[in-house]
Amino acid sequence: MNNDKLTCPYCEEPLERWEPSPYTGWGHDMFYCNNNRCSYFISGREKICQKYEKNFAYRYCYDPENGREVPLVAWCPGELSLLKGRCKAA
Ligand SMILES: [Zn+2]
Repeated sequence: MNNDKLTCPYCEEPLERWEPSPYTGWGHDMFYCNNNRCSYFISGREKICQKYEKNFAYRYCYDPENGREVPLVAWCPGELSLLKGRCKAA
């Protein structure tokens, strides 16, 4: 199994390797989708924005240890105006 060839099931972009900080509770590398056009990221961001008006979203993240999908909270610095614009339109 070659983890470097993992791709996002939502946008088919290659996943990026991420070393979580110890406090996250994950003791091994995770793989996440860093594509801002990913449908997973965009739909999650819209939902959170409408519900909480917070500037964060979820990125698709894959845990190679158990093969599970884990929503990864991602802050979106510098994209708040864009985010608000989307929310107003909704
Ligand atoms: Zn993706």
